Amino acid sequence: MNFYSLHTNDAKVSFKEAVINGIAPDGGLYFPEQIPQLPASFFDNIEGLSNLEIAFRALFPFVKEDIPETILREILEEVLDFDFPLVPISEHVSTLELFNGPTMAFKDVGARFMANCLGYFFRDSENKVTVLVATSGDTGGAVANGFLGVAGVEVVILYPSGKVSDIQERQLTTLGQNITALEVSGTFDDCQRMVKRAFVDTSLKGSVQLTSANSINVARWLPQMLYFLFAYKHLKASGKELVFSVPSGNFGNICAGMLAQRMGMPVRHFIASTNVNDTVPAYMQTAIYEPKPSVATISNAMDVGDPSNFIRIRKLYNDDFSELSKHLTSYSFTDKETKEAMKNLYAKAGYVADPHGAVGYLGLQKYREKHPNTYGVFLETAHPVKFLDVVSSTLNVTLSLPPQIAKIMHKEKESVSISEYEELRLFLLK
Ligand SMILES: *Cc1c(COP(=O)(O)O)cnc(C)c1O
Repeated sequence: MNFYSLHTNDAKVSFKEAVINGIAPDGGLYFPEQIPQLPASFFDNIEGLSNLEIAFRALFPFVKEDIPETILREILEEVLDFDFPLVPISEHVSTLELFNGPTMAFKDVGARFMANCLGYFFRDSENKVTVLVATSGDTGGAVANGFLGVAGVEVVILYPSGKVSDIQERQLTTLGQNITALEVSGTFDDCQRMVKRAFVDTSLKGSVQLTSANSINVARWLPQMLYFLFAYKHLKASGKELVFSVPSGNFGNICAGMLAQRMGMPVRHFIASTNVNDTVPAYMQTAIYEPKPSVATISNAMDVGDPSNFIRIRKLYNDDFSELSKHLTSYSFTDKETKEAMKNLYAKAGYVADPHGAVGYLGLQKYREKHPNTYGVFLETAHPVKFLDVVSSTLNVTLSLPPQIAKIMHKEKESVSISEYEELRLFLLK
């Protein structure tokens, strides 16, 4: 499979090059040249397939020129070593819990898959590759964990000092080995700016091979389609039309679900649920795409004003707005509504949701008011413990720490403080 840049519809590269480049040289996102079709027999017999087999069949067409079958199977075995349970909420609604990985957010799957692909591509290389990434919270932890101990890969993570949660900071700064955390006195935008500058800095070329692990990388994007296939496997028997509500920020996760649909998965509809950062809900109302500065909310992993993956969703429907509207609805919700939904879920179903999952629940409820004959799934993208303060104060509950989190709470934080680009440059040249 080749991938091309959505900027110029050109610049064709292999999967391997797309993963290493991250973004095309012309600044565009990579998109697969064809959308492979999973045969009807795959869906007819999906109940009999293991998650690993489903994952292999869905992803192999995208990577087969660069990753042999046996290696892909080994990689998937490492990536998918935890569960993706569906938890019933009411008669026609379940939540799909994606947070049982090492950093307790759904980004673990994409980050681990990318780490394993890069590890494979650089297995015999004498040069090291340096993964440089800026994080506002969850991405850094997932990337750090995914790449921990991967030979040939150094990871440098920039995070804004004092602007990530205590648990998120621990997930970034206590691993050691090939992971370094740079604590930036500044905002997430400052971190992002420094990273972008490093990618175009000619004084680094030849000395360090840089690659990015941010969410537009095809190796992070594609494996997210597996969540939807796993859920389909369990819900097919219900006989109802399925709808998925996905709490969305950069729109990578939902875009992967919509790709699974284009590959043949029977789904009635997708709901992109957002917080007040409503660029996409507004677009779905007006057909005018107007990015805006992001606003801080309690579902902070979705505080995105210009969702980077939305262009891929438009491409899936060849930028035909009316076609897209048949498959996608988008709603936005305030923090107040989100907290009400958390209380509701707790009171009615005894379910403790994190703020992101609660936004997903709200979108699903709203859609199902008009489409009651559907079966709805909302994705629970992070464990509530990652948002301890807001969850415990909203629900008056005490959450116990899962083992993944408990084990980092006593570890020493290690970070390197920087405040300007030159310090990053010198660090990379070391
Ligand atoms: C990253 C993230 C999201 C948003 O996912 P996108 O693919 O960027 O839309 C939602 N919830 C949580 C908890 C996240 O970490």
